[in-house]
Amino acid sequence: MTATSRDPGYGDGTRCVAAGLPEPVPGQPFLPGPVFAAPYHLDPVTGPAPDRDGYGRDDNPTRRRLESAVGDLEGGDCLVFASGQAAISALLMTALRPGDTVLLPADGYYTVRALAIEILEPLGVSVRLAPTAGPYPDFAGVRLVLLETPANPGLDVCDIAALAAAAHDAGALVAVDNTAATPLGQRPLELAADVVVASGTKALAGHSDLLLGYLATRSASALAAAKRWRKLTGGVPGAFDCWLAHRSLATLDLRLARQSANAAAVATALAGRRDVTGVRWPGLPDDPSYAVAAAQMRRIPGIVSFDLGDAERVGRFLTASKLVSAATSFGGPHTTADRRAQWGDDTSPGFVRLSCGIEDTADLVTDVTGALDAVS
Ligand SMILES: *Cc1c(COP(=O)(O)O)cnc(C)c1O
Repeated sequence: MTATSRDPGYGDGTRCVAAGLPEPVPGQPFLPGPVFAAPYHLDPVTGPAPDRDGYGRDDNPTRRRLESAVGDLEGGDCLVFASGQAAISALLMTALRPGDTVLLPADGYYTVRALAIEILEPLGVSVRLAPTAGPYPDFAGVRLVLLETPANPGLDVCDIAALAAAAHDAGALVAVDNTAATPLGQRPLELAADVVVASGTKALAGHSDLLLGYLATRSASALAAAKRWRKLTGGVPGAFDCWLAHRSLATLDLRLARQSANAAAVATALAGRRDVTGVRWPGLPDDPSYAVAAAQMRRIPGIVSFDLGDAERVGRFLTASKLVSAATSFGGPHTTADRRAQWGDDTSPGFVRLSCGIEDTADLVTDVTGALDAVS
């Protein structure tokens, strides 16, 4: 017998190291390598069998192991998808019908709003928006409430348990986009959310080298609907990406710890400067989201947002820095910064989302403050 990530009482590091691994077999690897297969051999007489892999869109043992790992960490059953958007599409397209209303975060991931407005509205779904920090409308008549907390990129936080209770009272389903927090930051299913969706592209896989999404739930019907959707639409991740993501999970606890410590130090340094405005990190005691985050979250992600006033100053800051790379996405090992407005996001021109990597904290703070000094 070995430890599994389901064993009660283990800490995050222990759970991450054990997540989804097979029972040890002498002579076999800890994490078996990726199985590359489109079709598998069939029994020439009896054909497909339920307990045997038949075709890669449905069946892949490397993918199943990753699903078992992520499911253990989230506390539910998991399906992985080719990207976060593929997982979120699966949720929206299986939970909503023409005539339904969906409530989305007004300040959440921009592409989800675009998907709702460009694809769902023409299909007869009515799309309403609410800011993550509230106020929230009455949930009466809403079929699905999608929360995103902390919201990307503004980093507001909402009370999942309280909103889930109010939404359930009104008969709505509740889903939480857990991308920024990761299952080590919060487990929405334990806070009464019906479904978790997330991009594994960010901190979960954490090496800036693959796209991944997942959906996790304790509802057998939601799982079955999403699985059927994935089979019919085909948005599965490849075996090698699944294997890389699973390999990366072992260090999730370590990576998040350093990213969070780096964000704490950077946010504190930025908050004390007169040439930076709007510094947001939910772990700062005077951050508007601090109280809810402290009560709900088990750790605060390594993302800091702030405003440098205009695009030109952001460009000079990035040029002056040696450790902060210009790049979108977040949660990777390298510190990156993204001026979100350049993607058509509805943020102000000088708004920056900084994703702290796993560099040494002192080096990062020295680099960031030095680069800001150079452009002041
Ligand atoms: C990146 C992101 C997504 C989309 O994920 P992809 O893997 O890029 O498709 C969804 N939600 C949030 C909060 C994200 O940050």
